[in-house]
Amino acid sequence: MSLRKILKFPDPTLLNVSGPVQNIDGGIDALVQDMVETMYAAPGIGLAAPQVGEGQRIIVLDIDGENPGKRLLKLINPVIAEREGKIVWEEGCLSVYDFNAEVTRAKRVLVKAWTPDQKEIEVEGEDLLAVALQHEIDHLDGKLFIDRISRLKRDLYRRRIKRHLREGGSLEEEKSDRPHI
Ligand SMILES: [Zn+2]
Repeated sequence: MSLRKILKFPDPTLLNVSGPVQNIDGGIDALVQDMVETMYAAPGIGLAAPQVGEGQRIIVLDIDGENPGKRLLKLINPVIAEREGKIVWEEGCLSVYDFNAEVTRAKRVLVKAWTPDQKEIEVEGEDLLAVALQHEIDHLDGKLFIDRISRLKRDLYRRRIKRHLREGGSLEEEKSDRPHI
């Protein structure tokens, strides 16, 4: 197992739409384990394969900070089958340096997916789990949470990051007390 580098906005790789995993066999196990390790180390509560530069529809999530691993989800080719209600959540992202913003999403979702050991599963999520599932599946479609805020706020953020990079700033070190997805 190894830690992977997490790509950060404005890396254009994050905008690519990921393709479905064609064969769920041992071939993806190493990647899934790397993603789990990278997510916990970040630390984050979710990670999608394109965030580590792999264009495959794979996400990992663990929103239970008290008992890491107990509710760990590894989902292959996840699809949102049902959405219900609305919730506004302040989101942060491992691929979006030093920025949080409120995003409106469905309050409850039902996701159908496969596990790495080739079982079909359904995951029902509410509140934070619903937010995290939608956030991660957005990554598979090349979308970041900043694509779901106002254009004004997004442009201000983009300008701030460009200035930060121009001035020789890094996107690596960040202190945040909010869970990143
Ligand atoms: Zn994210």
